[in-house]
Amino acid sequence: MTLTPNVYDAEPIPQSARDEIDRMLQSGDLFRYTAPENAPVALLESEFAALLGSKYALAVSSCSAALFLSLKALALPRDARVMIPGFTFAAVPSSVVHADCIPVLCEVGDNYRIDIDDFAAKLDDVQAVIISHMRGHTSDMDAIMALCDAKNIPVIEDAAHSLGTTWHDRNIGTLGKIGCFSFQSYKLVNAGEGGILVTDDADLVARCIIMSGAYEHNWQKHPVLHDAFARWQNQLPLYNLRLSNLSAAIIRAQLPEVARRVRDGRAGHDYVAAKLQLSPWLSVPEKLTPEERAPDSIQFNLEGLNDAQVEAYQAAAQARGIKVQVFGASKDNARAFWNWQFLNDIPELPKTRAMLGRACDMRLPARLTQPELDTIAEILTAAAEDVMGPLRTYGT
Ligand SMILES: *Cc1c(COP(=O)(O)O)cnc(C)c1O
Repeated sequence: MTLTPNVYDAEPIPQSARDEIDRMLQSGDLFRYTAPENAPVALLESEFAALLGSKYALAVSSCSAALFLSLKALALPRDARVMIPGFTFAAVPSSVVHADCIPVLCEVGDNYRIDIDDFAAKLDDVQAVIISHMRGHTSDMDAIMALCDAKNIPVIEDAAHSLGTTWHDRNIGTLGKIGCFSFQSYKLVNAGEGGILVTDDADLVARCIIMSGAYEHNWQKHPVLHDAFARWQNQLPLYNLRLSNLSAAIIRAQLPEVARRVRDGRAGHDYVAAKLQLSPWLSVPEKLTPEERAPDSIQFNLEGLNDAQVEAYQAAAQARGIKVQVFGASKDNARAFWNWQFLNDIPELPKTRAMLGRACDMRLPARLTQPELDTIAEILTAAAEDVMGPLRTYGT
């Protein structure tokens, strides 16, 4: 049996989290609003805001909860239309539906980024936009922000997979009005579940804080201009989407690891990408020029393979010990828009559909060693030759 790298296991949680959790288990103080100040959730918020360079942060139960609260805080009317990319995780259209809005899907190109022509064509018809930087791939934020600013359309960034990614040296998640991040286990910082939103807008964050479940005067424990709250006290529903102190302790202990994970994840990704590019059957789309990525997975397209060969490729990789997922090739993939059958109206998106049918997805956590990365690249390349035949040696 060949030993193939395990790409699923998480890194251990740092010891400092264990000590803090032990302390909390002793005191029983797990609720963010029990302590008058310095609760782990409150400390996480100030540390995360500082890390991102944002004025305010609000920790919540998931990135989906953050997206939902962001839409609610924008006070959109019922049935407002909200543009999202046709390539994202099912939780994103779900958060739009949850906020009583209607998702409008735009096309995504074979580089996994929003098709700006389709985006611009549909923009007149929407009242807000969620930019999902899917798998950490940043769409052209210069074009998107210029188009949205010109029409005064608020932009929410779904940065669930973009912690550590920058655009013109600015942190992803701070370009739009609100940025939403995830601490679910498959993201750069792993707390099992959890999310956080960042913004510079005191009024928006005040609304989010109250709706997240800061009942009565608990909002006074947030370092936000207090007159922003007076207006919203008792005016908004309380959805109770708070984060627990236990989760905050697990997240805070990992914040000092972010820079290393970004550096190693990017190096590992680029190392494997360069090897895959040597195969005529595999292509890894280039990053956009202003973008510096923080990948913990790799996506690549199968070139010149028909549907049967795509299936054979997955089987060949599996036989060699690696499971490759093609987004559009399984019956129930939650990132294939035609599986979002809870929507009333699923549009046809031919470009996005074509991309999903050829785009492969594989986790590539920052902890992988160079020999492990070599093994992965070799298997991914050899599986293509299994299906398409060995490469001819040219010039002979
Ligand atoms: C993981 C993910 C989400 C959902 O995050 P949760 O914290 O699990 O709700 C949303 N969008 C993208 C792009 C994601 O990768």
